Amino acid sequence: MKLILLGPPGGGKGTQAKLLIEKYGIPQISTGDMLRDHVAQKTDLGMLAKSYMDKGELVPDSLILDMMENRLSKSDCENGYILDGFPRTTPQAEGLTVLLKKLNHNLDKVIVLNVEDDSIVERMAGRRVHLPSGRVYHIKFNPPKKHDLDDVTNEKLTIRKDDEESTVRKRLSIYHDSTKPLIEFYKNNSVIINGTQDIDKVFNDITKSLK
Ligand code: AMP
Repeated sequence: MKLILLGPPGGGKGTQAKLLIEKYGIPQISTGDMLRDHVAQKTDLGMLAKSYMDKGELVPDSLILDMMENRLSKSDCENGYILDGFPRTTPQAEGLTVLLKKLNHNLDKVIVLNVEDDSIVERMAGRRVHLPSGRVYHIKFNPPKKHDLDDVTNEKLTIRKDDEESTVRKRLSIYHDSTKPLIEFYKNNSVIINGTQDIDKVFNDITKSLK
């Protein structure tokens, strides 16, 4: 099962990817997570990517495509994967087509999560993280036991720089300009899902569309 999850930042791609991993036993490949790892480990790519990520801008296509060529060539990808947050631009989608051909991989489906901008701003502006562990909370939908403190360590929670409202708005406008055209690019092999529903309902709609 080789899938692409396409949708706005904060639209629930990561959450649905986690559920799909459990159901299908295939890895989630999130370019955002991979880049954050590079940043944490202060690799050359991480140092370069950080300035774009902090501003909510896209990391250049060539860096992303090199990183993905490396990742998709690994043996755990042979039976399938869920691409989360990639491709995000037309050149990335074109690069992926070439790469899939080279690896002899067949894409099964592109799942488009449809979520309005305002509900994304509400979701993302309330997000809090415990940076050392990566645990994520939401002040309204998934609050920590104690206000602004991590459940496990009691350490202070923070707002990820790219979750600040002005950054979220900027990321959404980049999504509309650069990523939304991919819905047209993949129109022959995609399904559009209403991402504003409950998590379980969204997941149910996705799995139904994969049967
Ligand atoms: P995400 O966790 O997917 O929302 O990604 C966080 C940030 O990583 C984005 O705002 C971009 O700066 C960068 N990023 C992640 N995936 C890509 C991609 N496919 N192309 C360009 N930049 C990306």
